[in-house]
Amino acid sequence: MSGPAYDDTNIFARILRGEIPCKKVYEDAHTLAFEDIHPQAPVHTLVIPKGKYVSMRDFAARAGDDEIAAFVRAIGKVAALKGVEDDGFRVLANTGINGGQEVPHLHVHVFGGRPLGSMLTRN
Ligand code: 5GP
Repeated sequence: MSGPAYDDTNIFARILRGEIPCKKVYEDAHTLAFEDIHPQAPVHTLVIPKGKYVSMRDFAARAGDDEIAAFVRAIGKVAALKGVEDDGFRVLANTGINGGQEVPHLHVHVFGGRPLGSMLTRN
């Protein structure tokens, strides 16, 4: 383990177990992508590994090369599937307390469909 222990009750673990539904965008052996339940842009899709990883730090330390390759490729596939490749998009991984991570299962947000403004809001 690298960082905090994985909590099997987190909402994305429950989605992966099929206990609660999601609007699937993409899936392969290692990765699942689905629409964010509270979209903050016209395109707002979450990409998660199927393995039990809390954060990018944990994933980088423990995941196999095949899982890491699949995750990175899935982000690109989601951008293509959602039609934001040409106009551009943003990939964001909130991590830990200061990063504002709410769900303790690694995920990246893929935002697009409108100009996304400056990198950070001022608050
Ligand atoms: P974080 O703040 O951890 O980076 O982002 C967690 C994201 O998960 C939020 O954007 C939130 O809207 C989304 N989310 C939380 N619960 C659910 C859920 O049950 N289903 C889906 N599809 N998204 C969720």
